[in-house]
Amino acid sequence: MITNHLLLLQKKGFRMTQARSSILNLLENTDHPLTATSIHKILKRIGVSTNITTIYRELEFLLEQKIIEKIPLFDTELHYEISGRTHHHHLMCTSCGSIQNIVLQSEKGLLEEMHNISTYDIRRHSLAFFGTCPDCT
Ligand SMILES: [Zn+2]
Ligand SMILES: [Zn+2]
Repeated sequence: MITNHLLLLQKKGFRMTQARSSILNLLENTDHPLTATSIHKILKRIGVSTNITTIYRELEFLLEQKIIEKIPLFDTELHYEISGRTHHHHLMCTSCGSIQNIVLQSEKGLLEEMHNISTYDIRRHSLAFFGTCPDCT
């Protein structure tokens, strides 16, 4: 599958290795953040042979290109996701580490409240939820 990100990188003259396009493809088609370890496992399962060092190197490259972002979740291995998705938050199972993307309908009220409380020019925020998923309860 040719993605916009792939085309963009090719236009910029970057080499498109199988590892690079597989990682990009995986992150684009997964609806929740992934760690380097989970990317490694999935690629192995679908028959893409690569090693963890390559995956870290490719993730660094995609971060530099601002195609992906690091997700700040506490006490876990770093997670990555494609940049520019609809604004959302993360819900994480503290038992198995699975993560779900969450869009909050009532967030507008929360942001308004924050603007009323503070005189800061607020540019961004981070909000994450932790609990136990149905599989782990
Ligand atoms: Zn938000
Ligand atoms: Zn769980």
